[in-house]
Parts: sequence; C-alpha cells; structure tokens
Amino acid sequence: MTDEHRQPEVNIGLVGHVDHGKTTLVQALSGEWTDQHSEEMKRGISIRLGYADATFRQCPDAEEPEKYTVDEECPDGSPSEPLRTVSFVDAPGHETLMATMLSGASIMDGAVLVVSASEPVPQAQTEEHLMALDIIGIDNIVIAQNKVDLVDRETAADNYEQIQEFVSGTVAEGAPIVPVSAQQGVNMDVLIQAIEEEIPTPDRDPSEDAQMLVARSFDINRPGTTWDSLMGGVLGGSLVQGQLRDDEDLELRPGWEVEEGGQTEWRPVETTVRSLQAGGEDVEEATPGGLLGVGTGLDPSLTKGDALAGQVAGPPGTLPPTFEQFEMDVDLLERIVGETDEVEEISTGEPLMLTVGTATTVGSVTSARGGECEVALKRPVCAEPGAKIAINRRVGARWRLIGVGTLRE
Ligand code: GDP
Ligand code: MG
Repeated sequence: MTDEHRQPEVNIGLVGHVDHGKTTLVQALSGEWTDQHSEEMKRGISIRLGYADATFRQCPDAEEPEKYTVDEECPDGSPSEPLRTVSFVDAPGHETLMATMLSGASIMDGAVLVVSASEPVPQAQTEEHLMALDIIGIDNIVIAQNKVDLVDRETAADNYEQIQEFVSGTVAEGAPIVPVSAQQGVNMDVLIQAIEEEIPTPDRDPSEDAQMLVARSFDINRPGTTWDSLMGGVLGGSLVQGQLRDDEDLELRPGWEVEEGGQTEWRPVETTVRSLQAGGEDVEEATPGGLLGVGTGLDPSLTKGDALAGQVAGPPGTLPPTFEQFEMDVDLLERIVGETDEVEEISTGEPLMLTVGTATTVGSVTSARGGECEVALKRPVCAEPGAKIAINRRVGARWRLIGVGTLRE
C-alpha cells in the first residue's frame, strides 16, 4: 500500500499499432494500482477504453535517469518519493475501433506512441493514430520504441531512423524516442523521465464549472439483485475542467429522447452524484485527470451498455448547447491513411461518422460547399462552438478518417 493516496492529474493515451505492446507497457508502469479499483467499475470502464493509474516516483539520491521509478523502494532500500499519479488510457489498436481511439483522444492530455522495433515503420494504425493525435491537437508526445529485446543493435538503430523520418513534419516531430522493452522492463526510468518532461499536467482553473465527458456508462448490479439493494447507474469518463463533489446536482446533455403526443424531443436529464471513484478509491471530491466513476441516482437500466456514452455532465444550467444539426468548417486530409487517391470533397447527402468529444454520431450532409458543410445528426451532441470534430467517411466496409471539422457558432 502506498504512503498516501493521490488522484491522477493527467491522462496519457497509449496509441499505436495492434500488438506493438501498449497494454504490456501500461502493465509495466502501473504496478499494483489497478487492483484497488472496485471490480465492477474497473471491468466496466476498461473493456472499451482500458485504463490504469501509475504513480511515478523518484529516488532523490540517485542520478537521472535512474532516479525515476514506479517502485516504492529504491535499490539502496530507502523509500522512493512520489512525483505524480498519471492515468493511462489504453486505446485499442484494432483498426475497426478507430472511433473508440478518437473518442478516447478527447480526454488525453498527451500520448505515448508505441512503435515496435521489430517491424517496418509505419504500420497502418501507427500512421492512423498519429494522424488522429494531429487532428485532435495532442502535441505532447513521447515515442516508445518497444521490443528492442527482439532485435540486434543495427536493426534497432535502423528502425529508430525510420521512426524519426516517419514523424518528421507531423505533430510528433522532435518528440523523444525512447528504446524500451515493456516486457523485460528495460529503460522504464528513461521513459518515465521523458513523460515527466514532455507531458506536463495542464494548467487548470479550479473555479470553472465541472464538465465531465462521459466515455462509458453501465449498470453495476449483478443479475438478480433485489430492488432494495439496487445501485444507481454509473458513469465513467473524465473531468476536463472544474471539480465534482459528492451529493452535487448533475445535468446530463443531450440527455435522452422523450416522446410526447407523437413528437419526440431530446431533453437534458438531472440527477445527483451519489458516489465518486477516482484513482481507484472512493473520494469526496474529484479533480480533472484520471478516469472517474460517478455513481448516480439514475435508474441503472438507463445507463446500461454505454447508453450514456458521449454525453456531457456538469452542474445544471452550465453545460454547452445541444445540437441536432450543425455547420462546421472542414479541413480534409490530403489522403486517407494507407490509400493513394486524394480525399474527395464532401458531398450533399453522404453519411459521415463524426466524433465530438467522447460522442460518436452519424450525420447526414444537408449541404456542402468549399470548406464548410452542414450536417443533420442521428443523435444530437452537446458541444462548445469551436470544438474539433473528427470526420470519418465510409470507404468499403470501414469508416475512415478523412478530416477535421470545427463547430460553428
Ligand atoms: P497491444 O496490442 O499494443 O496492446 O500489444 P500487447 O501489449 O498486447 O503486446 C502484444 C504482444 O507483444 C504480447 O504477446 C506481448 O507479450 C508482446 N510484447 C509486448 N512488449 C514486448 C517487448 O518489449 N518485448 C517482447 N519480446 N515482446 C513484447
Ligand atoms: Mg492492447
């Protein structure tokens, strides 16, 4: 058990191609912390958006980089000192889950791009995930050149150069590249130092109204639970600003669809915070950074199966507006990752998959000209004008990232 409990203060995304070692790296860095989460909440949040907290520590008497560690005891037997607790968001590498990666990206303050030293650079999702970081505007990046235990020195050096060349001209240009073996725990100190230097905790204004991006929602009751011991619905996500307290009133937008006299309408929902879980422990007050579990007074059948993923939560009356359709300025990529043809202009009538914050929704283009387009959404979104929107187009059987939009007033 650690000396003191600390809430994670920064979210770090793990991105990169499938099997390059993201999950192994998170395991190497996160030690015992994940064991302390309530099983239900942990299972619930990590299935689609894996996460784990890690406390970075230092041995004050040691030199850099050896001083950096996640162990509570230094090699000389003295106790290490905690530096800060970070939360890793382990984005799935499988290509069809790009939408999940994009909605995860909205809660990342920085990212570790994991690239295997034993394969040519870049692999498909290495490129696609880097493009996504670029689009969402995540520029605090550390590159982990993983699996160096599998290659000889020459191959590692050659691969290192390939990585440098690949990231030049991108948002990751100049990012430190740290050769590691996640599996053997090699060079973790250098990696921690690079993360400490490149991915600072963002400056935050504690007086801002709380705003939580909901990435998951679930029902933590086991089947057959009787009504008198039923727990309210749980929201999982991250606070992007402000602080959330136990017993506080909470509004969710866009809320849900209500039918009345043959008309349907989206209405915000109000509830109260009944419990808060951050950094694997119950807390009275949650601050930004880390993934947060919020127990609410909502009927659990309404939160089951991520039904409320993509919503925004905060004090009643403070949330951004809800849009059922919107206009956006559009910047198209030159080409879709892995394809050679240029990206064609967006056309009226075509369906697009849009990621806004943690929300993913399909929109139908009602008008498109030059660098702007107007879309009608299947599910409305709650967002601040100026928000970045990842735009995906259907190509064959898949949704592919084609550009970025900016929400208009
Ligand atoms: P992910 O898909 O990026 O999350 O990759 P995983 O962490 O699941 O790792 C994929 C496979 O690579 C697993 O079998 C790991 O044991 C292995 N692996 C991960 N890191 C290393 C490493 O540094 N060296 C070696 N030799 N294998 C590794
Ligand atoms: Mg994984």
